[in-house]
Amino acid sequence: MYRDTTCGALRASEINKEVLLSGWVHKLRDKGFVVWIDLRDRYGITQLVFDEERTSKELLEKARTIGRETVIQIKGQVIERASKNPNIPTGEIEVLVSELKVLNESILPPFTIEDETDGGEDIRMKYRYLDIRRNPVKDNLIFRHKVSMEVRKYLSDAGFIDVETPYLIKSTPEGARDFLVPSRMNEGQFYALPQSPQTFKQLLMVGGMDKYFQIVKCFRDEDLRADRQPEFTQIDCEMAFVEQEDILNTFEGLTKHLLKEIKGVNVDSFPRMTFDDAMKTYGNDKPDIRFGMQFGELNEVAQHKEFKVFNSAELVVGIAVPGANSYTRKEIDKLIDWVKRPQVGALGMVYCRCNDDGTFKSSVDKFYDQEDFAKWAEVTQANTGDLICVLSGDTNKVRAQLSALRMEMAERLGLRKADEYAPLWVIDFPLLELDEETGHYHAMHHPFTSPKPGQLELLDTNPGAVKANAYDLVLNGNEIGGGSIRIHDKETQAIMFKHLGFSEEEAKNQFGFLMDAFQYGAPPHGGIAFGLDRLVSILGGQETIRDFIAFPKNNSGRDVMIDAPATIDDDQLKDLHLKLDL
Ligand code: ASP
Repeated sequence: MYRDTTCGALRASEINKEVLLSGWVHKLRDKGFVVWIDLRDRYGITQLVFDEERTSKELLEKARTIGRETVIQIKGQVIERASKNPNIPTGEIEVLVSELKVLNESILPPFTIEDETDGGEDIRMKYRYLDIRRNPVKDNLIFRHKVSMEVRKYLSDAGFIDVETPYLIKSTPEGARDFLVPSRMNEGQFYALPQSPQTFKQLLMVGGMDKYFQIVKCFRDEDLRADRQPEFTQIDCEMAFVEQEDILNTFEGLTKHLLKEIKGVNVDSFPRMTFDDAMKTYGNDKPDIRFGMQFGELNEVAQHKEFKVFNSAELVVGIAVPGANSYTRKEIDKLIDWVKRPQVGALGMVYCRCNDDGTFKSSVDKFYDQEDFAKWAEVTQANTGDLICVLSGDTNKVRAQLSALRMEMAERLGLRKADEYAPLWVIDFPLLELDEETGHYHAMHHPFTSPKPGQLELLDTNPGAVKANAYDLVLNGNEIGGGSIRIHDKETQAIMFKHLGFSEEEAKNQFGFLMDAFQYGAPPHGGIAFGLDRLVSILGGQETIRDFIAFPKNNSGRDVMIDAPATIDDDQLKDLHLKLDL
């Protein structure tokens, strides 16, 4: 037996008890006549004491030679501490050691294993197993476990069945590039790793499974933007005999359950906003509604005057930034530089100060009078003391730019509070999205999403206007889940593939199995998938998903700990019938 208790368990009630502990040497303090060791395991830290009076000289000598992170086992007696430490749960006691055994020595770790470490991100990733010994990382992994257990509990109680689906499959189009795996046994052929289990979960519905879920890895070969991982985890779900309303209610229930169980927060029913309204009011299909600063479209009140920039713009739109009239001229200039950065891309910004005396002062005073500005203030819901910031240009671009500014101002004003939770459903997404570069439409969600009833005909005349039974769950400005009601008949699916530019032959080759299945009594069905990594990081009140993944990849998609991806030897290439052309 290595231990009969843990390093986080002992309290004053156990004084005098003989205990057996195992763990890592966290810290050692040597005062000559007395040595203290902080012994650490997953559960906490227990102070061990060796001293001249009560410990053998040999044992005291042995204790003082032990290095950090050495794994030891001790036997000893729980005693009351002379100077108690109220900051840790075991702070009232210490263990007077009578036997000490070194189980395994440690060489000097490359960074100190403390909550506040001296190790930079790179070194911690290379030695992630050491990083995991630190409380902040360990606690995040335990937190993630709690969230996924609550998910399993809720869904299982609601009648969902956890079914595993294969990883070696054929392409599932979710809009990213596939990771491919060459098949040794099938010369020249490749598996694709699932971008999601989409087609399989639909086939499970055809199979009569009715309510499916899986906490599952998905793989997407994308250029990694700041906080993405090439492999990530979804809570993937599908239900049969449901309409959109059933799905929204079920997964609103799951989200409320998580907020309550994990955060102790009760949230009323989630607001619903159409995609069009979200774009119009927040310039974004995942609006952060913890704060206002809603868009006010100013075309009517700001165009047809002398100001050419606005007159030629498709959209003139502004937000009222609360209290920002206090900005100095210099600060406003800096803000204008901020919106002109390539990452935001605005050509400029017009501002209007809402003075305390009810007057307005603007960068375009030349072209507008006080009455005009009063209308701007009305449309943007500005109060005295606010600063109205106005951008203009092409609708889509200008909305994205103003949305970026809105988020930046909210951040500066401290309105994005980590302990506040504002979920909402964004519904009625467009079915198709125009790729500006190629001029082709592609599925906004994925090709299996069903158009809204009665809109199929519109596909021929105005494809961009067709709305889908597709929805996203948004929390604090993040899309945490998305899904749709699916097409469940072969004919509609064929029409959809045609509009997405698949020839009949291509559709058959790639998705023949699904079209075939639809001929055998496919029930109406729909589903959703949540991004577990993101959900956990939001609930955990932290920014990056990497902090909640045990072994994450870096921005180049590398695992620097195991050094992957890596080259393979010639024999392996030969087995796989592959030749490199670099
Ligand atoms: N498969 C979709 C996704 O990964 C989710 C869904 O439609 O259920 O985004």
